[in-house]
Amino acid sequence: MNFIFLILFITILANLVLGWVVFRNQKHSLSNKLLVLITLSLASWAASKILFLFSPPLIANAVAIPLLYISGISIVTVFLLFAHIFPKDKISFHKKFYIPALTISLLLSVGVIFSDTIVGELVEVGGIRGIVFGDLYPVYTLFIFTYFGIGHLLLWQKLKKSSGILRAQFIYVLLGVSISSLVGVITNLILPWLGNFVFFWIGPPFTIIMVVLFTYSIIRHHLLNARVIATELFTALILMIVLVDALLSDTTVEFFIRGGIFTAILIFGIFLIRGTLREIRELERLSHAKSEFVSIVSHQLRTPLTAIKGFISMIREGSGTEENKKSWLEKTYISNERLIRLVNDILNISRIERGTLQYNFKEIDITKLIDEIVEELRGQVENKGLSMAWEKPSESIPLLHADEEKIRQVFINLIDNAAKYTEKGSVIVRLIYLKDLQKVRVVVKDTGIGIKKEDMEKLFDLFSRGEGGEKTHTEGVGLGLYVAKKIAEAHKGKIRVESEGPYKGSKFSVDLPVQ
Ligand code: ADP
Repeated sequence: MNFIFLILFITILANLVLGWVVFRNQKHSLSNKLLVLITLSLASWAASKILFLFSPPLIANAVAIPLLYISGISIVTVFLLFAHIFPKDKISFHKKFYIPALTISLLLSVGVIFSDTIVGELVEVGGIRGIVFGDLYPVYTLFIFTYFGIGHLLLWQKLKKSSGILRAQFIYVLLGVSISSLVGVITNLILPWLGNFVFFWIGPPFTIIMVVLFTYSIIRHHLLNARVIATELFTALILMIVLVDALLSDTTVEFFIRGGIFTAILIFGIFLIRGTLREIRELERLSHAKSEFVSIVSHQLRTPLTAIKGFISMIREGSGTEENKKSWLEKTYISNERLIRLVNDILNISRIERGTLQYNFKEIDITKLIDEIVEELRGQVENKGLSMAWEKPSESIPLLHADEEKIRQVFINLIDNAAKYTEKGSVIVRLIYLKDLQKVRVVVKDTGIGIKKEDMEKLFDLFSRGEGGEKTHTEGVGLGLYVAKKIAEAHKGKIRVESEGPYKGSKFSVDLPVQ
């Protein structure tokens, strides 16, 4: 197979692959969309070059020549737009600039397609194909120079003003554009003008340097995606090598074997890319959740601390009546308890995540434990104007094999939530002994904001919050239920939620086995 044909073919593939990779990874970024358009124009330039060099003269004349020069117009026009908006993603539409720029491109395209004033017929001299140029060819050359020139200038100005990663990005972009546009302009505009078409084919292959540098500079900005892009590029590179290898086969059998290898690598590559993508998305979600968590937790820690500080300073100054002081002390106590709960949840989370949460199992009396918790939290619930009911079974319940502190935390979280997410009505705590099933069930029921059906499943996930909860208590973090679920599971128990819907109350029940 002809070497020039092969190189041009690889150029098309490389441009299409890179365009596809860039498009897939940042669909909504405008600079990336323009970059995709540039790669498409470059691929079309390389394709028209193949047609020009290898197709019958009729096709070369009718299709290849117009396509060659239209691709050139498209490349510089999109490049100009790109240089204008990159690296921002907003288009500040300067009509005075764009309308004339696009009109000139359009007029030239019409000239290329419908007249011989810019490019004319195909000629063949000494076995090398060339083109007869029209009178307006210098205008075309000037146009390409000007658009490239303005694009370079815009990027250069931005480079001077930028720093850090952005500066590195500009350097890559400028380097890529300079190398390939210089080679392209010399071999495709200047030399042909002087009648030399020997190096006419060299322009497109040099664009690979530009697109690789472009893409690299963009992914440097989105570090998390770099792994996906690296996987995609690597897979595409192997695929390209195998494809070229298959196309160069000497026999049909060889072609089919190599084609089979190509298909196998393609399938493997798709799985590989999908897996990496999934992993990266999960990492992105967690990283986002974690940074949100840090900001919410710091806020959460500050709120009770500020309240405690306020009450203590009032008491210290001796202001207020005895009655006031009592209520301030009570509020200080509640704020302090919230802090302890939050810190406990955070400690537990980090231990759960590291797999080092230790359980101290012993025989515990669940009725007595719930009794203590209810009495401990009664003040907090009733202070909010809610009634608190505690329904215990008449019969005695066998001891449970459990970690008392952890189980205490589960019910403190549930009752605290019930109080937090209920504006009026009651909180009911009920203990049931399910003798036949050999388990106990603790139910915490409230008449509060309730839970939407869609939210129920995910409430027990880390950092997950329901819509209602998010609206009424902006400072929630979504840790309590996750911790409660993990602790219940460690006791071979189960935690469930039921709600008729928004503002219809919620019911959380925890089942724990009895030995
Ligand atoms: P937090 O309360 O800090 O947000 P949790 O993990 O304890 O974290 O709760 C997760 C979410 O579940 C809450 O944000 C809230 O939307 C919802 N939720 C929990 N308990 C109740 C309840 N009793 N009534 C209504 N919604 C609740």
